[in-house]
Amino acid sequence: MWGVSVERPPSLFAGVQEPDAGPPPDPRRELIGAARELCARGLTVSSLGNASVRAGSRIWITPTRVVAAELEDAQIVALDLSGARRGGGVPSCELPLHLEIYRRWPRTGAVVHTHSPCAVAWSHRGLALSHPTEELRYHGLSCIPCAAPAPAATAELARAAAEALRHGPVALLASHGVVARAASLRHAIELCALAEQQARIEWLLLVVAALGDGPSAARPGVHPQAARGAAQT
Ligand SMILES: [Zn+2]
Repeated sequence: MWGVSVERPPSLFAGVQEPDAGPPPDPRRELIGAARELCARGLTVSSLGNASVRAGSRIWITPTRVVAAELEDAQIVALDLSGARRGGGVPSCELPLHLEIYRRWPRTGAVVHTHSPCAVAWSHRGLALSHPTEELRYHGLSCIPCAAPAPAATAELARAAAEALRHGPVALLASHGVVARAASLRHAIELCALAEQQARIEWLLLVVAALGDGPSAARPGVHPQAARGAAQT
Protein backbone atom coordinates (compact mmCIF):
# COMPACT_ATOMS: atom_id res chain seq x y z
CA MET A 1 0.00 0.00 0.00
CA TRP A 2 2.78 2.40 0.84
CA GLY A 3 4.96 1.36 -2.06
CA VAL A 4 8.67 1.44 -1.46
CA SER A 5 8.47 3.90 1.37
CA VAL A 6 7.23 1.87 4.29
CA GLU A 7 9.96 -0.73 3.90
CA ARG A 8 12.66 1.84 4.44
CA PRO A 9 14.49 2.18 7.77
CA PRO A 10 13.97 5.41 9.72
CA SER A 11 17.49 6.55 8.76
CA LEU A 12 16.20 7.34 5.26
CA PHE A 13 14.17 10.11 6.88
CA ALA A 14 17.43 12.05 6.88
CA GLY A 15 18.26 10.94 3.37
CA VAL A 16 21.06 8.60 4.46
CA GLN A 17 21.11 4.96 3.39
CA GLU A 18 22.36 2.31 5.78
CA PRO A 19 25.35 0.24 4.61
CA ASP A 20 23.21 -2.86 4.06
CA ALA A 21 20.34 -1.02 2.39
CA GLY A 22 21.13 -2.63 -0.97
CA PRO A 23 21.25 -0.95 -4.38
CA PRO A 24 19.79 2.57 -4.74
CA PRO A 25 16.07 2.60 -5.50
CA ASP A 26 14.78 3.02 -9.04
CA PRO A 27 13.46 6.62 -9.08
CA ARG A 28 10.52 5.58 -11.23
CA ARG A 29 9.39 2.96 -8.73
CA GLU A 30 9.98 5.40 -5.87
CA LEU A 31 7.77 8.04 -7.49
CA ILE A 32 4.99 5.61 -8.32
CA GLY A 33 5.04 4.40 -4.71
CA ALA A 34 5.00 8.00 -3.50
CA ALA A 35 2.07 9.00 -5.73
CA ARG A 36 0.00 6.08 -4.47
CA GLU A 37 0.97 6.76 -0.88
CA LEU A 38 -0.06 10.43 -1.16
CA CYS A 39 -3.51 9.35 -2.37
CA ALA A 40 -3.83 6.59 0.23
CA ARG A 41 -3.04 9.07 3.02
CA GLY A 42 -5.49 11.67 1.72
CA LEU A 43 -2.73 14.15 0.92
CA THR A 44 -3.98 14.48 -2.62
CA VAL A 45 -6.55 12.86 -4.94
CA SER A 46 -6.64 11.52 -8.47
CA SER A 47 -3.86 13.05 -10.59
CA LEU A 48 -3.54 16.24 -8.53
CA GLY A 49 -0.23 16.93 -6.85
CA ASN A 50 3.17 15.79 -8.07
CA ALA A 51 6.55 14.58 -6.89
CA SER A 52 10.10 14.48 -8.15
CA VAL A 53 13.50 13.15 -7.14
CA ARG A 54 16.99 14.22 -8.18
CA ALA A 55 20.21 12.29 -8.58
CA GLY A 56 23.10 14.45 -9.72
CA SER A 57 22.07 16.54 -12.70
CA ARG A 58 19.09 14.32 -13.57
CA ILE A 59 15.57 14.60 -12.16
CA TRP A 60 12.53 12.37 -12.49
CA ILE A 61 9.02 13.75 -12.05
CA THR A 62 5.50 12.36 -12.13
CA PRO A 63 3.59 12.98 -15.38
CA THR A 64 0.66 15.32 -15.85
CA ARG A 65 -2.91 14.08 -15.57
CA VAL A 66 -2.23 10.42 -14.84
CA VAL A 67 -4.17 8.94 -11.93
CA ALA A 68 -1.75 7.58 -9.33
CA ALA A 69 -3.27 4.09 -9.39
CA GLU A 70 -2.61 3.83 -13.13
CA LEU A 71 0.95 5.18 -13.18
CA GLU A 72 3.50 3.08 -15.05
CA ASP A 73 7.29 3.24 -15.09
CA ALA A 74 7.42 4.46 -18.69
CA GLN A 75 5.26 7.50 -17.84
CA ILE A 76 7.67 8.87 -15.23
CA VAL A 77 9.54 11.71 -16.91
CA ALA A 78 13.33 12.04 -16.87
CA LEU A 79 14.83 15.49 -17.42
CA ASP A 80 18.00 17.40 -16.84
CA LEU A 81 18.13 20.47 -14.64
CA SER A 82 17.56 22.77 -17.61
CA GLY A 83 14.17 21.12 -18.05
CA ALA A 84 15.14 19.26 -21.22
CA ARG A 85 13.21 15.99 -21.38
CA ARG A 86 15.29 12.82 -21.53
CA GLY A 87 12.52 10.24 -21.59
CA GLY A 88 9.10 9.24 -20.29
CA GLY A 89 5.73 10.94 -20.74
CA VAL A 90 4.58 14.55 -20.37
CA PRO A 91 5.84 16.13 -17.14
CA SER A 92 3.64 17.65 -14.47
CA CYS A 93 2.56 21.19 -15.29
CA GLU A 94 4.30 22.21 -12.04
CA LEU A 95 7.71 21.27 -13.46
CA PRO A 96 8.88 24.94 -13.20
CA LEU A 97 8.21 24.79 -9.44
CA HIS A 98 10.37 21.67 -9.04
CA LEU A 99 13.17 23.00 -11.25
CA GLU A 100 13.30 26.30 -9.38
CA ILE A 101 13.68 24.52 -6.06
CA TYR A 102 16.44 22.21 -7.31
CA ARG A 103 18.34 25.15 -8.77
CA ARG A 104 18.13 27.15 -5.55
CA TRP A 105 18.95 24.26 -3.19
CA PRO A 106 21.55 21.96 -4.77
CA ARG A 107 21.33 19.49 -1.88
CA THR A 108 17.59 18.97 -2.27
CA GLY A 109 16.93 15.38 -3.36
CA ALA A 110 13.14 15.42 -3.61
CA VAL A 111 10.22 17.83 -4.01
CA VAL A 112 6.59 16.96 -3.25
CA HIS A 113 3.50 19.05 -3.95
CA THR A 114 0.14 18.07 -2.42
CA HIS A 115 -3.48 19.27 -2.33
CA SER A 116 -4.53 18.03 1.11
CA PRO A 117 -7.89 19.52 2.15
CA CYS A 118 -7.21 21.23 5.49
CA ALA A 119 -3.96 22.76 4.24
CA VAL A 120 -5.60 23.90 0.99
CA ALA A 121 -8.46 25.49 2.93
CA TRP A 122 -5.98 27.26 5.22
CA SER A 123 -3.96 28.43 2.23
CA HIS A 124 -7.04 30.34 1.04
CA ARG A 125 -6.55 32.54 4.12
CA GLY A 126 -3.09 33.47 2.84
CA LEU A 127 -1.65 32.98 6.32
CA ALA A 128 1.18 30.91 7.73
CA LEU A 129 0.46 27.97 10.01
CA SER A 130 2.13 29.14 13.17
CA HIS A 131 0.40 27.86 16.31
CA PRO A 132 3.11 26.36 18.53
CA THR A 133 2.37 22.63 18.45
CA GLU A 134 4.36 19.56 19.34
CA GLU A 135 4.14 18.68 15.66
CA LEU A 136 6.07 21.77 14.59
CA ARG A 137 8.48 21.51 17.50
CA TYR A 138 9.24 17.86 16.67
CA HIS A 139 10.30 18.92 13.19
CA GLY A 140 12.29 21.90 14.47
CA LEU A 141 9.97 24.41 12.80
CA SER A 142 8.42 27.59 14.18
CA CYS A 143 5.89 27.91 11.38
CA ILE A 144 4.86 26.80 7.90
CA PRO A 145 4.92 29.97 5.78
CA CYS A 146 2.45 30.80 3.04
CA ALA A 147 3.80 31.87 -0.34
CA ALA A 148 2.52 34.96 -2.14
CA PRO A 149 -0.44 34.30 -4.47
CA ALA A 150 0.46 33.23 -7.99
CA PRO A 151 -1.28 31.25 -10.75
CA ALA A 152 -0.67 27.51 -10.83
CA ALA A 153 1.94 26.10 -13.19
CA THR A 154 3.75 29.40 -13.72
CA ALA A 155 7.25 30.71 -13.17
CA GLU A 156 5.65 33.28 -10.88
CA LEU A 157 4.39 30.49 -8.61
CA ALA A 158 7.82 28.84 -8.70
CA ARG A 159 9.49 32.06 -7.52
CA ALA A 160 6.86 32.72 -4.84
CA ALA A 161 7.19 29.17 -3.50
CA ALA A 162 10.99 29.33 -3.47
CA GLU A 163 10.83 32.60 -1.56
CA ALA A 164 8.57 31.02 1.07
CA LEU A 165 10.82 27.95 1.27
CA ARG A 166 13.71 30.20 2.33
CA HIS A 167 12.03 30.16 5.74
CA GLY A 168 11.70 26.39 6.04
CA PRO A 169 11.46 23.12 4.09
CA VAL A 170 7.67 23.15 3.72
CA ALA A 171 5.30 25.95 2.68
CA LEU A 172 1.72 26.62 1.73
CA LEU A 173 0.96 27.88 -1.77
CA ALA A 174 -1.72 30.56 -1.45
CA SER A 175 -5.19 29.29 -2.42
CA HIS A 176 -3.60 26.15 -3.80
CA GLY A 177 -1.73 23.56 -1.71
CA VAL A 178 1.53 22.50 -0.09
CA VAL A 179 5.10 22.11 -1.32
CA ALA A 180 8.06 20.53 0.48
CA ARG A 181 11.71 20.03 -0.34
CA ALA A 182 13.98 17.54 1.41
CA ALA A 183 17.01 15.31 1.03
CA SER A 184 14.80 12.28 0.47
CA LEU A 185 11.38 11.53 -0.95
CA ARG A 186 10.36 10.00 2.39
CA HIS A 187 11.16 13.21 4.26
CA ALA A 188 9.42 15.43 1.67
CA ILE A 189 6.25 13.31 1.93
CA GLU A 190 6.30 13.52 5.72
CA LEU A 191 6.69 17.31 5.57
CA CYS A 192 3.54 17.51 3.43
CA ALA A 193 1.79 15.27 5.94
CA LEU A 194 2.98 17.59 8.71
CA ALA A 195 1.41 20.59 6.93
CA GLU A 196 -1.92 18.80 6.72
CA GLN A 197 -1.77 17.74 10.38
CA GLN A 198 -0.85 21.25 11.50
CA ALA A 199 -3.66 22.76 9.40
CA ARG A 200 -6.15 20.30 10.87
CA ILE A 201 -5.08 21.28 14.38
CA GLU A 202 -5.25 25.01 13.66
CA TRP A 203 -8.74 24.72 12.13
CA LEU A 204 -9.89 22.83 15.22
CA LEU A 205 -8.32 25.46 17.46
CA LEU A 206 -10.41 28.09 15.66
CA VAL A 207 -13.51 26.04 16.49
CA VAL A 208 -12.41 25.77 20.10
CA ALA A 209 -11.87 29.54 20.25
CA ALA A 210 -15.29 30.20 18.66
CA LEU A 211 -16.89 28.03 21.33
CA GLY A 212 -15.13 30.01 24.04
CA ASP A 213 -13.46 26.84 25.22
CA GLY A 214 -9.87 27.87 24.67
CA PRO A 215 -7.10 26.60 26.89
CA SER A 216 -7.30 29.70 29.10
CA ALA A 217 -10.89 28.77 30.04
CA ALA A 218 -9.87 25.44 31.51
CA ARG A 219 -8.04 24.35 34.61
CA PRO A 220 -5.13 22.07 33.84
CA GLY A 221 -6.40 18.57 33.13
CA VAL A 222 -10.04 19.58 33.35
CA HIS A 223 -12.28 19.91 30.30
CA PRO A 224 -13.89 23.39 30.26
CA GLN A 225 -17.45 22.02 30.13
CA ALA A 226 -16.70 19.73 33.05
CA ALA A 227 -15.29 22.71 34.90
CA ARG A 228 -18.46 24.76 34.21
CA GLY A 229 -20.66 21.87 35.22
CA ALA A 230 -18.80 21.54 38.49
CA ALA A 231 -19.18 25.25 39.17
CA GLN A 232 -22.96 25.05 38.72
CA THR A 233 -23.46 22.24 41.22
ZN1 LIG B 1 -1.17 22.02 -7.46
